[in-house]
Amino acid sequence: MNKREKEIKKEIDNHNAQISALHKEQDSIDSRKTIKCKCGKRTPIKKVLVLRDHWYETPSGCTGGDMWHRSDENHWYCPHCESWQRAYIFSSSKAKKSDKNLSLTAKNWFLTQSLMSHFGEVLNQYNEKTLDEIRAANKKEKERRAARGLY
Ligand SMILES: [Zn+2]
Repeated sequence: MNKREKEIKKEIDNHNAQISALHKEQDSIDSRKTIKCKCGKRTPIKKVLVLRDHWYETPSGCTGGDMWHRSDENHWYCPHCESWQRAYIFSSSKAKKSDKNLSLTAKNWFLTQSLMSHFGEVLNQYNEKTLDEIRAANKKEKERRAARGLY
């Protein structure tokens, strides 16, 4: 490695350290965000339960259908008015674009994908009926994935 290559490597390392610090700071800000309900009350997202809805496509033809799809519509639970609120989860760029024509309250129905890791609990819902059933199915799925070496 010549002198210039060493300088370049050092500069890249410095930038990576700065970028990493910025990500950490953004993460910290995200973790303190709140979500506003139609009832007017705000709840810190780290205390909010989100259900990611799925819908079933019935079998069609020889190989079509018979599968679950992730729905755009999801729900989160407001502990203040004790009711489920609709929410749409998009990547942040799509949420931004969608935000333009929405009222202030409706904006809060849009959760960005990047915030998902900061919510208190995020569960996938298929055809389970109760929260206990959903939690049990998610636990089973997590164990199944872990056994297969998928995170
Ligand atoms: Zn509420």
